[in-house]
Amino acid sequence: MLKLKGVSVQYGAYKAVRNVDIEVGKGEIVVLLGSNGAGKSTVFKTIGGLHKCTEGEIMFEGKRIDQSSPAQIVKTGIVQCAEGRKLFPRMTVYENLMMGAFIHRKQKKEIENTLHEVYELFPILKEKRNDLAGSLSGGQQQMLAIGRALMSKPKLLLLDEPSIGLAPIIVAQMFEVIKQINKTETTILLAEQNANAALHIAHKGYVLENGSIVVEGSSEELFADDNVRKAYLGA
Ligand code: ATP
Repeated sequence: MLKLKGVSVQYGAYKAVRNVDIEVGKGEIVVLLGSNGAGKSTVFKTIGGLHKCTEGEIMFEGKRIDQSSPAQIVKTGIVQCAEGRKLFPRMTVYENLMMGAFIHRKQKKEIENTLHEVYELFPILKEKRNDLAGSLSGGQQQMLAIGRALMSKPKLLLLDEPSIGLAPIIVAQMFEVIKQINKTETTILLAEQNANAALHIAHKGYVLENGSIVVEGSSEELFADDNVRKAYLGA
């Protein structure tokens, strides 16, 4: 579904991403592991069209998207849920969710159905629908950010560090919800530092170090890899 082939990205003279190959199959959860500064966010922003590749190409459903604008990429069905959440804090939960629905022109009924699905996934958002987004806890804001992304019915959801800064119990809920979202036929590419939890829900993964992929394989293979265990699983 998504294919990165030999992708490099530079910030001025600095090569933040080097010759990266990533494949995400339809219906999969794929995790991109890596420590701070490894280049995960840069990969995500490049898929979303916010940075241009200096080398390589990105294909989505058989079409090249690396020359497309962020708005065109969203229209193909790729939606980012960025680290840091980027909500509208002075708008209500409901209004934030509706902002997600405006990306595509949809029928009112279809929007209502999607809203219903999001509320089923995150009952707390229904309960707090009239509260200001800025008044929510960190975990609730993360849920709202994911809910807003889901309102546009993405084919591919890019989740950048969804567990960052959340209490352990909320982290567990978050990964459970990601699994559920995937069951509704949404393909997911997930950037995470929480390797253990992410690999438990992922089909396969890639390890990014200093901008390069150093290990790739199924979740089972990554769990069994000595370097991955030492560097990312605390073994
Ligand atoms: P984090 O989890 O901290 O966001 P990351 O794996 O997502 O880390 P990136 O944010 O992609 O990493 O950063 C990769 C490298 O590129 C880092 O060395 C970072 O300092 C550098 N970098 C990121 N954004 C820019 C920018 N706009 N200009 C210059 N260098 C940047």
